[in-house]
Amino acid sequence: MANGFIDKARITVRAGNGGNGAVAFHREKYIAAGGPDGGDGGNGGSIILQVDDNMSTLMDFRYKRKYVATNGVDGMSGRKSGKDGQSLTIRVPRGTLVRDAETGEIIKDMSDSEPYVLCKGGRGGWGNQHFATPTRQVPRFAKAGLPGESHDVILELKLLADVGLVGFPNVGKSTLLSVVSKAHPKIANYHFTTLYPNLGVVYVDEGVSFVMADIPGIIEGASEGAGLGHDFLRHIDRCRLLVHLVDVSGSEGRDPIEDFEAINAELQQYSPDLAQRPQIVVANKTDLLMDQAQLDAFRAHVEEAGFEFFAMSAATHQGTRELVQHIGHMLSALPPVVVYEPEYVPRPAEVDMSEPLHIEHEDDVWLVEGPWLQRLMANINFSDYESRLYFDKQLRQSGLFDQLEQMGIQDGETVSMYDLEFEYQR
Ligand code: GDP
Ligand code: MG
Repeated sequence: MANGFIDKARITVRAGNGGNGAVAFHREKYIAAGGPDGGDGGNGGSIILQVDDNMSTLMDFRYKRKYVATNGVDGMSGRKSGKDGQSLTIRVPRGTLVRDAETGEIIKDMSDSEPYVLCKGGRGGWGNQHFATPTRQVPRFAKAGLPGESHDVILELKLLADVGLVGFPNVGKSTLLSVVSKAHPKIANYHFTTLYPNLGVVYVDEGVSFVMADIPGIIEGASEGAGLGHDFLRHIDRCRLLVHLVDVSGSEGRDPIEDFEAINAELQQYSPDLAQRPQIVVANKTDLLMDQAQLDAFRAHVEEAGFEFFAMSAATHQGTRELVQHIGHMLSALPPVVVYEPEYVPRPAEVDMSEPLHIEHEDDVWLVEGPWLQRLMANINFSDYESRLYFDKQLRQSGLFDQLEQMGIQDGETVSMYDLEFEYQR
């Protein structure tokens, strides 16, 4: 957006890889061959998202687009584990939707204050200290770490507010917000003073408050993308109640009824759902009112259309208190602010299984490794039954088991792949 308010950004995030396990043997003077003592690789750091209420735009993501957590360190001799990689916490404004860049599906709505793990770090590989068994005393292998998850995501800010102010530019939206809350939006007598949304907390009574959002004024054609306004409408998507301000002073030679209908038509165009949201219509600038009959006609029109009507002067504060109290009363009966459910279903990465795997046979253990297997395993959640079934199917399809049979594997022998070991059964 040209005015510097950034509320959409595409970034790439990558968790750290797991460190490799070490192959080492205990050595001491006069002891010829000690046992295996290779330490484990550290886990890769994760990518974590966290809401930060000091942020109000996605500006930080305009220039920095790549976020990488650190890798786990390789294991060392003497049973020393490698250090875990450091997780990277990315701070986002409250109300940020995280979407899969390819499908647009919502991965997470960052509306609460819980940290969210977007990409898990790769698990570290085991050192050979774990692989000694009575029949395998000199394990000359360790496991490689698994790669960290990575994801291209789109961040999209959809402010969290109970009440959204709508109306033409210059009708007094920012003035109202500044009068009823501690917010300091820019106010001036020209159109499009407000170039980005402002949030203010409005206190109604002890323990009763709500959040009000002031967005740049909507102009006709905004919903079709003409000029300002269109991009900002999504910031009131979640609002529980709309407060629709109309300038009734006649000072700009505008007709309140026409303005009121034009804004509602814009809302309808943008989103029929938003147009159906409970709405209070507020006639502003009554201190400058030139024609009482016009105000009465406007009131009749609005009430006929089924909306509640208020008249006030934001500048002289006349009627603002009553409005705030009425909003508080209405909100108490309305459902809470929408939090979007995740839609994204992780699809196991398509792996090209044509590359042959590397198979090594040591004692009764069959070591299997290869780049695609590593990638596949990094994306499998082994605590989930469905995912394990999927993994098993992939392995069968790859022809691995046929190959092991040909090489002479026996039932009961161990198949060992990265941090997974299982007993082979035909
Ligand atoms: P917005 O574009 O809807 O946010 O409008 P602003 O709050 O920036 O106000 C536009 C102009 O109208 C400013 O000069 C305000 O001082 C003035 N204004 C706002 N409310 C009133 C009011 O109730 N009475 C009078 N006389 N002027 C007002
Ligand atoms: Mg404004």
